[in-house]
Amino acid sequence: MKSLVAHGDGRLSLEECAEVDLLPNEILVAPIATGVCGTDLEIIDGKIDPAFVKYPIVLGHEWCGRVVQVGSAVGLFDLGARVVTEGIIPCGICVECAAGYTNRCTTYDELGFTRAGAAAEGVVVNAKFVHLIADGVTTESAVLVEPTAVVTQGLLKVQPARGAKVLVIGDGTIGLIAARVVHAWNPSLVHMLGLKDGQAALAKEAGVDLFMTTSPIDKYDLIIDASGASSRISEAVRQLVRGGSLLLLGFTGPEVNTSISVDDLVNRDLTIAASFGYSRKAWEMTVGFLNSGKLDLTFLVTHRFRLEEFQEAIDALRGAPSPRGKIIFEIGK
Ligand SMILES: [Zn+2]
Ligand SMILES: [Zn+2]
Repeated sequence: MKSLVAHGDGRLSLEECAEVDLLPNEILVAPIATGVCGTDLEIIDGKIDPAFVKYPIVLGHEWCGRVVQVGSAVGLFDLGARVVTEGIIPCGICVECAAGYTNRCTTYDELGFTRAGAAAEGVVVNAKFVHLIADGVTTESAVLVEPTAVVTQGLLKVQPARGAKVLVIGDGTIGLIAARVVHAWNPSLVHMLGLKDGQAALAKEAGVDLFMTTSPIDKYDLIIDASGASSRISEAVRQLVRGGSLLLLGFTGPEVNTSISVDDLVNRDLTIAASFGYSRKAWEMTVGFLNSGKLDLTFLVTHRFRLEEFQEAIDALRGAPSPRGKIIFEIGK
């Protein structure tokens, strides 16, 4: 099984990994498509918080695949069925899991971070976390379930009101997904503050009514930061209406601070929410959006590579010009 392994010092190698025997409750899935994102770069470069990774690690936390083999105690899945798998593996028994906050499970364990991910010809997963993908859903949409579940989790936390005026800061994958998914809450408008004009067409496909690269003069009920740019976060607080909410989904990098006027927060009755990963509920809801035909993210995949072309894929991730959406590996094609 060829697997793309990161060593945490910038080195990346395609290695032959031994096949493992399935436990009764496990499934072997052959990835069809696996996305890469900024977090993969942090893993490759060793810049991620060490608490969230175990080296060497097979990359790949955004993916979909086909069932190849099922363990003896797994009855539900047909061979060849297209599936996605929750990447965060919660313990199911800690106080956070018991309350449904499986994204905050006290034992952190995640595919592509602490256990072998899907930038490989095969992945072994627990059947409990596997979800079937309906025939009408494109592979491009299915590969984006993971980042979409991150967005869903955040939106469940802030519960956008019907008719809300929404600003998304950041024109990368998470920002573009957020612009699309927030429509499930029926906002009256969605604006995007991006960095590059070249992303405008993708933003339009994501359902953005107005794309800007300089700060807007309007005020918003909900601002979603998917940029992690600290100066823009300070500014966003001033762009909220009284009673508005700011949802933080972007990473600024460790130890980066930003200044916010506390009087402004209190006097204007503002809410600042931040969100980590996704709960099982958010994952399930996201798969539901796709399987019901409500959500299609096919437009977002702009770059495709074979696993053997990993260097080109990583170079594209570091600096391909706009328009740039999701970069994926097509595996076994
Ligand atoms: Zn990612
Ligand atoms: Zn737990």
